[in-house]
Amino acid sequence: MQSAEFRVKGLNEIATAIPSCTRCPRLRAYCQDIARTKKREFRDQTYWGKPVPGFGDPAARLLIVGLAPAAHGANRTGRMFTGDSSGNWLYQALHRQGFADRPISISSDDGLTLSDCFITAAARCAPPGNRPAQEEMNACQTWMEQELALLKNVRVVLVLGRIAWERWLRTSGWWGRLAPKERPGFGHGREHRFPDGTTLLCSFHPSRQNTNTGKLTREMWHRIFERAAVLVGEVAENSTPQRNRGTQRLSQRKAIE
Ligand code: SF4
Repeated sequence: MQSAEFRVKGLNEIATAIPSCTRCPRLRAYCQDIARTKKREFRDQTYWGKPVPGFGDPAARLLIVGLAPAAHGANRTGRMFTGDSSGNWLYQALHRQGFADRPISISSDDGLTLSDCFITAAARCAPPGNRPAQEEMNACQTWMEQELALLKNVRVVLVLGRIAWERWLRTSGWWGRLAPKERPGFGHGREHRFPDGTTLLCSFHPSRQNTNTGKLTREMWHRIFERAAVLVGEVAENSTPQRNRGTQRLSQRKAIE
């Protein structure tokens, strides 16, 4: 059962409430400490240093689920995947497919907008070692639950990494509804269509650990987003009111190309 602290009504209210969340003292202390000590190249900047809300289009059909803010990325800028290498990979790919109006995300006030896409994460506070504890992700799940309840057009879910895969399955309820052997597995490029029509698409996370080692290449990465765009396009074909949005986004993509 959710506490009153976590019961909010709309996406804007969720975005306003998340930065005040204090459920995980270890993570809050770490975020504040990073914000105080900073990284040399950002020493003149004021870090956000708080939990980071979701970001994107409330009418999105594509949902992207990440792991958690990076210490000197979203924990510095206050916007998901903004100001770090993973974000550079993500927004370039989103722009190529017409989901973002520019290929780079620098700061929370750079004017970037997403179309047909919303970004959320398993945890909203930067964790030490990029690894939130299980109980911290459990505590944070309530925020994604509330977002999912409001993102009524989502039909394609792209999970970035195994932790995001498990957290979305848990949050959406499929983890509990399916027996372990029936749950769709995680693997780069794997996809699964659920009975409610939602498609789950899996990708490795674009962390430096994966991109610097060649585990995730640009080609592999862009192929995932090409597939996501096709899946979203299939939704558009089956839904007249959504078709215009799909057409708009596709013409935006043509202009980019
Ligand atoms: S990780 Fe989530 S639940 Fe924990 S303090 Fe941050 S926002 Fe709150």
